[in-house]
Amino acid sequence: MKIGLFFGSFNPVHIGHLIIAEAAYNKTPLERVWMVVSPQNPFKKKKNLLSAYNRMRMVELGIGNVLHIQASGVEMHLPQPSYTIDTLTFLREKYPSYEFSLIMGADNLVHFHKWKNYEAILAHYPIYVYPRGDQAKDLPLLGHENVTLFEAPLLNISATYIRETLKAGGSVRYMVPDAVHEYLDSIRAYREK
Ligand code: ATP
Repeated sequence: MKIGLFFGSFNPVHIGHLIIAEAAYNKTPLERVWMVVSPQNPFKKKKNLLSAYNRMRMVELGIGNVLHIQASGVEMHLPQPSYTIDTLTFLREKYPSYEFSLIMGADNLVHFHKWKNYEAILAHYPIYVYPRGDQAKDLPLLGHENVTLFEAPLLNISATYIRETLKAGGSVRYMVPDAVHEYLDSIRAYREK
């Protein structure tokens, strides 16, 4: 089984993420997309970060009842901060019959050389990249045999924008799936007290 791993803080998950997960399934040989909730991204600040449990729950709610996209909390049980190479090594041992790949935006590929053991990731795991902004055009890594570009419709939505909207008392309806919208409301996420 070919599994594509789409990592994120998902603080919170939004339709931009879900559209990418669906496009990756549609446009690549991947049979499953796992949206992996990173408890603590080593490059991101912890401020305003909802608990991994809450973010995981929203990813599950956002995906809904489909088989080809799934939420994964694998990094919640690994040492933090989680480095992708360590998660990949763990998954490979736990699921020896699965073939794991990465799904990432071209914006992430620009900084890929800063990732822990990026050469090992590149050598051993296929990477499916979707264009994001202008950055996709001249990336040297796009010529690598393990890197494949796939088409995906892009929305200019970010979790930062959603948090700021909620903090200011606004509504994020339509930017997140309905069930996520209700969940955010129920825990008064990111609102000023
Ligand atoms: P933040 O605004 O808090 O930085 P984010 O919306 O970028 O968050 P992440 O959880 O960091 O969300 O996103 C996970 C992955 O999805 C990242 O690789 C990010 O580049 C990508 N991504 C985020 N928003 C979009 C979007 N609108 N379209 C396509 N990819 C996105």
